[in-house]
Amino acid sequence: MEVQREADLRAANTFGVVARCAWRVQVDDAAGLAAFLDDARWRGLPRLVLGGGSNVLFVTERFPGVVLQWRGRGIRLLDADDEHWLVEAAGGEPWHPFVQHCIARGWAGLENLSLIPGTVGAAPVQNIGAYGLELAERFDSLSAVDLETGETRRWGREALQFAYRHSVFKTLPADRYLITAVRLRLPRRSDWRLDYGGLRAALAEQAPARLDAAAIAAAVCRLRRRKLPDPARLGNAGSFFQNPLVPAARAEALRAEYPALPAFPQPDGRVKLSAAWLIERCGWRGRRRGAAGVSARHALVLVNHGGASGAELWALARDIRASVAERFGVTLVPEPRLIGAAP
Ligand code: NAP
Repeated sequence: MEVQREADLRAANTFGVVARCAWRVQVDDAAGLAAFLDDARWRGLPRLVLGGGSNVLFVTERFPGVVLQWRGRGIRLLDADDEHWLVEAAGGEPWHPFVQHCIARGWAGLENLSLIPGTVGAAPVQNIGAYGLELAERFDSLSAVDLETGETRRWGREALQFAYRHSVFKTLPADRYLITAVRLRLPRRSDWRLDYGGLRAALAEQAPARLDAAAIAAAVCRLRRRKLPDPARLGNAGSFFQNPLVPAARAEALRAEYPALPAFPQPDGRVKLSAAWLIERCGWRGRRRGAAGVSARHALVLVNHGGASGAELWALARDIRASVAERFGVTLVPEPRLIGAAP
């Protein structure tokens, strides 16, 4: 267990905003976690479980509690039958290298989720998704420690209640559970997802010798690198708003007025709208207010041009949300977790 007092979290959030916390504790294994749970120094203080810091905005510059980070590592093949590989990864594994590790061993099925920042442990919480694939489709189960009782429990698919960018962990008390390992069931027969947002075109540009997971992963990486700013160079947390899900009648009314508005019917009858399109139509793409701005490449990505505070980024986000609500009557919901502000 590694403990820091008044820890600097600037490098621990991909927005790169100034932030610190009363305590930062990093644990690598079960023994470290037991020591964390037994320690009285942070008992009763607010707790924040942080993964790669790629889906969080510190609106406040000081979190007055304990930030817990799980650094447990390890990837193993647990089982294989005619249909599937069963792979387990520790929650502290960074997501994209894990995807690459799988592909290198011939375990396909996660290639569309290449280059998503963050950790394996964080992936199920918001059911990460990209290019026509959601984690839920490959999910088997996870292990999580209840930080109130110290008990470890295995959670299966049903228990997770996955939906669009959603799992049960979004409705349970925040920071109560630490996801220590995730199991994925990866298909042995090819199950390529190619019919999405320019993926086939990106593949054609590469003209791969054969269609396989590595070629698809490379195309996804190429698309993402083209469209999304690299947090190592320009602070950001990916999409700042979720794509709104609206009743079908509402979507129809909007489409009557704005025929170009991208709209995707969902299995539950609602319709998913493109948040990026709504924001762009309000004129926000590429705009800048001080060091806080909207990416010129992608209207859904807020960026820190250097030195923006979390409060400045959040103020900008609120103004974007207000203008979309005023013009389209649609309320955008932030995707990253806000620390020190209510969404
Ligand atoms: P895009 O291809 O420009 O499409 C804009 C939006 O329309 C996307 O958000 C996507 O929703 C939706 N969409 C496009 N084609 C669709 C289809 N065939 N069926 C259903 N929905 C469709 O999107 P993009 O911004 O470049 O992103 C590409 C992919 O990467 C998307 O899947 C996006 O979710 C993912 N991504 C995620 C983040 C993040 O931080 N969470 C950041 C960047 C990109 P979906 O978002 O539901 O896919």
